[in-house]
Amino acid sequence: MKAIRISEYGGPSVLKLEEVPAPQAGPSQVLVRNHAVGVNPVDTYLRANVDNRGPKLPYTPGSDAAGVVEAVGAGVTGVKAGDRVYVGGTLSGAYAELSLCDEAQVHPLPANVSFAQGAAMNVPYATAYHALVHRAAGEAGETVFVHGASGGVGIAAVQLARARGLTVIGTAGTERGRRLVLEQGAHHVLDHGAPGYLEELMRLTGGRGADIVLEMLANVNLQKDLGIVAMRGRIAVIGNRGTVEINARLAMNKNVAILGVALYHATPAQVVGIHAALVEGLTNGTLRPVIAQELPLVQAPRAHEAVMEAGHHGKIVLIA
Ligand code: NAP
Repeated sequence: MKAIRISEYGGPSVLKLEEVPAPQAGPSQVLVRNHAVGVNPVDTYLRANVDNRGPKLPYTPGSDAAGVVEAVGAGVTGVKAGDRVYVGGTLSGAYAELSLCDEAQVHPLPANVSFAQGAAMNVPYATAYHALVHRAAGEAGETVFVHGASGGVGIAAVQLARARGLTVIGTAGTERGRRLVLEQGAHHVLDHGAPGYLEELMRLTGGRGADIVLEMLANVNLQKDLGIVAMRGRIAVIGNRGTVEINARLAMNKNVAILGVALYHATPAQVVGIHAALVEGLTNGTLRPVIAQELPLVQAPRAHEAVMEAGHHGKIVLIA
């Protein structure tokens, strides 16, 4: 099969399309023929070995894909060959024509959802759910500020929060991004590049501030978030690309919780709950992943450049 392989850490050019042996499904494993593969910012951090978190070399990158079950190993009862599925994590890497998965990593893809949309599910939607529901304990009737709502996680958060009965205020850096955020269900949208945009948030919340902030760029925004979060509010740090100085008194004075979010620390029971909710959301139409760009697998280097550029309008996927 064809797969993208990384044999040395570095820039996008280390992503090479190669011919490799196809994996075989062992007991409790599922082999999936990928039709689409999701590209996430974390794939670029691992490729560049940021914080020494890169996988053992050589490896096939990626955790998200959607396709059709090719074969199942002994003891697999949840899916069968021919089923449409999306995957949340793999054993062999997702940037490939075939991915080997544990049965628990494979989830049904409803007929109304495209493979590209299925490939956009795992990291963005599971992270948004884990942040909003498990970490920030968002409740219907509360206001959530999605600080960076136009990308993969942001759009997922907007749709999830809207479906759960929260008031949603999002941000985007471009006019097109702001239109998209509104189309995806935000009640209000702001421009995170405009002077005074957080004053507008205070006005929209009647001076109370947001009960929950889902933060996509904490190194830029955490101190500002402390100024606009409501009394007893929660700030969930999802994205961070540097360091930031904060005045912790602002958190203290309002009993505010700053919560770290790492999808890979969700417990196995939380992961089961996340995907049960996501599959139901796909089925009932409240979750509708937005695809910004589809590129062939061989253009993985270009996809890695694109996923780190500003001006997002949804997900970048590779077509396998
Ligand atoms: P993405 O698709 O690249 O989206 C990035 C978002 O950040 C866009 O909405 C972008 O808006 C926005 N942004 C840019 N400048 C901003 C600013 N000054 N203030 C607020 N938002 C700003 O990335 P993603 O997949 O949604 O992921 C978002 C972040 O979360 C990334 O850093 C990623 O690594 C991280 N993440 C963490 C976890 C976890 O487990 N903790 C899981 C998934 C992702 P414009 O382009 O419209 O300006």
